[in-house]
Order: sequence, then structure tokens, then C-alpha cells
Amino acid sequence: MQFNYIANASLPSSSGRTIAVLDPSDGQPYDDIQRSNASDIDHAVRAARQGLDAVWCKLSAAERGRLLMRLSLTITEHAQELAAIEQRDCGKPTKQARADAAALARYFEFYAGACDKLHGETLPYMDGYSVLTWREPHGVTGHVIPWNYPMQIFGRSVGGALAAGNVCVVKPAEDACLSLIRVAQLAAEVGFPAGVINIVTGYGHEVGDALAHHPGIDHISFTGSPAVGTLIQQVAAQRHCPVTLELGGKSPQIVFADADLDAAVPAIINAIVQNAGQTCSAGSRLLVDQAIYEPLLERLGQAFENLRVGPAAMDLDLGPLIRQQQQQRVWDFLSDAHVANIAMVAQGKVVDEAPETGFYQAPTLLRDVPVMHRLAQEEVFGPVLCAMSFRDEDQAVEMANATQFGLVAGVWTADGARQFRMARRLRCGQVFINNYGAGGGVELPFGGVKSSGHGREKGFEALYGFTTLKTVAIKHG
Ligand code: NAP
Ligand code: MG
Repeated sequence: MQFNYIANASLPSSSGRTIAVLDPSDGQPYDDIQRSNASDIDHAVRAARQGLDAVWCKLSAAERGRLLMRLSLTITEHAQELAAIEQRDCGKPTKQARADAAALARYFEFYAGACDKLHGETLPYMDGYSVLTWREPHGVTGHVIPWNYPMQIFGRSVGGALAAGNVCVVKPAEDACLSLIRVAQLAAEVGFPAGVINIVTGYGHEVGDALAHHPGIDHISFTGSPAVGTLIQQVAAQRHCPVTLELGGKSPQIVFADADLDAAVPAIINAIVQNAGQTCSAGSRLLVDQAIYEPLLERLGQAFENLRVGPAAMDLDLGPLIRQQQQQRVWDFLSDAHVANIAMVAQGKVVDEAPETGFYQAPTLLRDVPVMHRLAQEEVFGPVLCAMSFRDEDQAVEMANATQFGLVAGVWTADGARQFRMARRLRCGQVFINNYGAGGGVELPFGGVKSSGHGREKGFEALYGFTTLKTVAIKHG
């Protein structure tokens, strides 16, 4: 049985109700989490406020940094344990779960070093005045975390918020809570004061909604679907609470005829099969120069046929999807493709060892997907790559920008001038040229435009969003 973690204590929900935790690899329950409600959120927000006022706001930035560093070190010491928890809870292949634990440690390392580097300015003004700016924390920040990368998204969101001097109330997705409960315990063990990190589990429409409504929450960081992002923003607007939204994408990989295909092909495949395609930055649209469309599809098709899907512990190319509804969602997209006569180039294989009760989906490469079809417009959040060809650079840009999203774009070309032109013309938060964001990029600001959201997390930039600027003007004559 898993408990909420509030004020450094493991607590049952006030309702006494629980939710079963399923293993996506076999669909079977193996643990329970608390089904919390508004009163548990209220308790956590009060605990957070008390932690902020009594201890956290009195620590120097350097002391905060040391605590974050201690958390990073203990995460590294417990990396195997955390990876094993996340692997079973989310169905992640071993190498992905380990990479996520390493990224979590790296976020806290990065933000540990950033705590005492965040400062204001002194401003020139009229004679007889001194003017300065302070970067102050919002106070109690709320964090709604999705199920696809709980550890990584906790690291980037909570890491940045704590570094800026906030205290946090975290609502993980009900499908993926276990690693974050453990991280909060580890934080307490290395000396985080009570109330600084609080985890409240439960359903989004209950406990997530209660968090968004709570007047004691001073800022909300939300990562998830555009629909819920809109809801959160509407609720927060009632009391003018600032919100950072990261809502996914339909990110294009754009391949020109002069691209180094030996470098591009593995990156294109990884960008859609990583985490079984359940990645906000998944490269889910493949836009290819018509001159190399057929040979590239042939090459990718062969690679797709060799991809293997199976139980997380087998550590294959892909594990299962998170839950049955997500599997059904991918099936619905593929059945729409079938109805629209969209041709399948190739599919990987689900291995025989995969239990039938697990949530598996073979990676699938589709071709000639019409630009306006929902497969080319909406986030599938599964291992489905939609290929289409373009005539020239102008058409590539037009197609790339023709969705509601604007998160990431990958561009593959040897032409230096074109690299810059493309980077300028693509409407999105980040452009990767001749790479697709290898290495996690903890240091690199990340976020979207249009329906991909607004605000930035990761990197130093995130600290500005997790603070509010106060201008102080002193007239001294
Ligand atoms: P979702 O509903 O947006 O879930 C994201 C988070 O929001 C979860 O913690 C969820 O809690 C919570 N939530 C749900 N309803 C809420 C509400 N009314 N108020 C406050 N919080 C609420 O996403 P999903 O249904 O799990 O996935 C659906 C689709 O969203 C995916 O297929 C994908 O396209 C997209 N998605 C994007 C990302 C990303 O990284 N940008 C991540 C996940 C999903 P519960 O899960 O506990 O209900
Ligand atoms: Mg689970």
C-alpha cells in the first residue's frame, strides 16, 4: 500500500479509498495508491505554506542548493531502485527507466548549482533614487505530472520550482505515482524540511481539479493533454493564478535530400519508439524531400520490421503502453488510417512472451498521410510514424507548421544557410538540426507555442517562470 506524502509523513487519504496500481506489462494489479480528495489537497497546501514560512524562506539560496545537491546524490545512489519502481509502474524498458532516474538526478544537480545564481538588477532611474529588482518565489507551487515520464517531469518542474525558493504540492498521474512517493521520502531523509515537497495521489478530475482550485496555490505547472491544460487554465484564471503549460506536440522530422541518412535514420526511429511513442516531443511526423522519399521509406521500413515490443523487464525496443485506454486510443487511430486507405509501410513485432493482458502495440510506419488527416494533426501518443513527402523548402515549412501544435522540430540537412532559414521559419519551441535532442538536455529551456502550451521549463530560463519580479524604488534624495 502506498500513501500520500505530506509534511514528511506517509498518510492515508481522508476518504480512506484507494486505487489499484496496474503493471502495464501484464495488466495485473500489484499495489494500491491513495484516492485523495480536496481535503487532502487542503492539508498538503497548509503543510506547504507552513514549511515555506517557518523554514524554507529563511534558508539562503546556497543552503537550498546544498539540499538539492544532496537529493541529487541520493537519487543517484538509489537509481537502480527508482528505475525498478518506474519500470514496473509505467512499463518502461530497463534502459529507459535507468535513463529517467539518471535524468532526475541530473535535474537536481543542475538546479542545485543554479539556486544562488538567480539574481535581480539595479536600474538607472531619476536623480535621488535607487531602483532594484528582486526575483521572489511565487510561494506554494502546484505540479500536475503526467504518466509518461514521472521522474523526468518531476525533476524539471519541481527541481526548478524549489531552486527558485518555492515549496511544492505535486499531483502525479494516477497511473504513475510510485517513484515520486519514493523521491519525496528520499528528500526527507537527506534533510528537506517538512512541507517542502508534498505528494498527493488520486484522480485528475478529483485531486487535480482540487489543486487547480485551491486558493493557496500560487502557481501551477501542468504537463499533459491540451484539453486538461485548457481546464486548468480556466480554473486558475478565476483567481489570476499563473500557469505554465506543456501540452505535447505533433513534431515533424524534416529530411532534405542532402541529409546524412546514416545519422538521421536511427534518430528518427528513436524519436518515435522511445517510451513506446508516449513522449511529448515524439517525432511523429516524417516530412521527406520527394527526391529521397522512396529509398528512405524502404530503409525505415526494414528497421521498423526489426523492432521488438515486449514486457518491460525484457528491455526490448519498446515496452507496453501505459494502460488499456491508451492502447485503445492508438487502435482507434490505426483503424481510422485503415478506413482512409492510408498505406502501412511496415510494423514491428510483439514478442510471444508478451502476456495477452498487457497493453502492447507494435510500432507502425504509415505513408502518404494527408496533411489534414487526424493522424497528421493529433497526438497519437503511441509508436505511430506518419510519413509524407514535400517538393521544396517552402512546402516543407508549410507542412511542418500546419498543425495546432508547436513543440519541437527536427531538421536534417547539410546546407548551413538552410539550417538557419528553417530554424527561423518553424513555429515551435525548439529546433534540433542534424540531431533530435540527444542526452536529455536538462540545461536547455523547453516548452511550446500554440496548443503545445506556454512558459518554459528546464534550463536556467525555468527559474524566471518560477519567480515573480518585484521592483523596489527608493527615494533617498
Ligand atoms: P491528462 O488527462 O491531461 O493527464 C495529465 C495529468 O493531468 C494527470 O496527472 C491527470 O491525472 C491530470 N488531470 C486530469 N484531469 C484533470 C483535471 N480536470 N484537473 C487537473 N488535473 C487533471 O492526459 P491523459 O488522459 O493521461 O492522456 C491523454 C493524452 O494527453 C495522451 O494521449 C497524450 O496525447 C496527452 N499527454 C501529453 C503529455 C505530455 O507530455 N505533453 C503527457 C501525457 C499525456 P490522472 O491521470 O490521475 O487523471
Ligand atoms: Mg502503473
